[in-house]
Amino acid sequence: MGISVLSMRNVPLQGKTLLVREDLNVPIAQGKVTSDARLLAAIPTLLEALDAGAAVIVMSHLGRPIEGKGIDQQPEMSLQPVAVRLSELMQREIRFVSDWQNGLSIVPGEVVLLENTRLLAGEKANDDSLSKELANLCDIFVMDAFATAHRAHASTYGVAKFAPVACAGGLLMGELEALKKCLSAPKRPLVAVVGGAKVSTKIAVLESLADMADQIIVGGGIANTFLAAMGFSVGESLCEPEMIETAKRILNKTDVPLPVDVMVSEKFDSNSPAILRAVEEVARSEMILDVGPRSARHIAKLISSAGTVLWNGPLGVFEYDQFGEGTRLLAEAIAGSDAFSVAGGGDTLAAIEKYSVVDDISYISTGGGAFLEFVEGKKLPAVQILEQRALVS
Ligand code: AMP
Repeated sequence: MGISVLSMRNVPLQGKTLLVREDLNVPIAQGKVTSDARLLAAIPTLLEALDAGAAVIVMSHLGRPIEGKGIDQQPEMSLQPVAVRLSELMQREIRFVSDWQNGLSIVPGEVVLLENTRLLAGEKANDDSLSKELANLCDIFVMDAFATAHRAHASTYGVAKFAPVACAGGLLMGELEALKKCLSAPKRPLVAVVGGAKVSTKIAVLESLADMADQIIVGGGIANTFLAAMGFSVGESLCEPEMIETAKRILNKTDVPLPVDVMVSEKFDSNSPAILRAVEEVARSEMILDVGPRSARHIAKLISSAGTVLWNGPLGVFEYDQFGEGTRLLAEAIAGSDAFSVAGGGDTLAAIEKYSVVDDISYISTGGGAFLEFVEGKKLPAVQILEQRALVS
């Protein structure tokens, strides 16, 4: 599994205008960025480009705005707060531009951040004319947003087709190298932890992991679907009945230790106390919102004897402290183990920050969906186009 994309490091940047696609899709509350992780991951590439004498235009998506609808009608979808925070972290002025389609001039040493790409008509459809408009902004397109590399959008894929030069930034190169290293010859046992809410998307990934991992620890909505597959009543919990057959197949293929106790509530809010239940005692009106202490201890034990740990997704609704204990114990177990650990996903990053284990995970990927698709063995379209461009040039 060689990496056959052109690296930004091998491209002369002096005096060039770069268009860098980053993933600056960070959580924002009351107009302020609440997690810097993705910004901190992107900054080295931007500084490298500036140090090499380039003019740097940065673009990213944020959330899920309604495409083509003006920012004045959905102001919470603006990247403006990200420009402010990025500027603080980089200690450089960042010019925020929303009307670049009317023309944009930039000089070497300058950094410009474009407004949310997902507001642009044609972004998600990977429209050729939008892709060309973006490509026309630059001499060199730098794809650095590993977390969006699984989507063929105008700002991740189309632009790479039409830009004079298309290459990968340091973050993307690092992600590809680390994941390939981890997956091609993992130290055994390989323990995968797959939690979170996106049951249907992750269950597809779980099927592939079932062939690779020695054990799959499930959490969140996914665990609920597995519990339902085992015949447990999960009450009002997040659960996907149509995925039960898939869950059964996975259970037959590999070792999936399921929770024996859970934390439940009748309400999904920050004030509801967490109630401990044996897994067979969940009432019809209750929602499972975390694993219980016995289950968490068992998970921690499995992690402590793992050779490699792949982690994506929390074990519970960790945003509410009372449902975060399972995820906290998991994070601490991974941090304390000797295993080579790779963690990825927006919520996983937030959990890693919340439980202060950033420095104790071997590699923290910025990807969620992309991370999982890579693990699944799928080709990421935005990487594929870079490979094609590298072959041609
Ligand atoms: P994902 O983005 O798929 O990794 O999902 C992460 C989200 O799943 C977090 O916001 C958690 O609060 C949520 N989550 C975790 N466990 C549960 C659960 N048992 N029920 C509902 N939501 C959950």
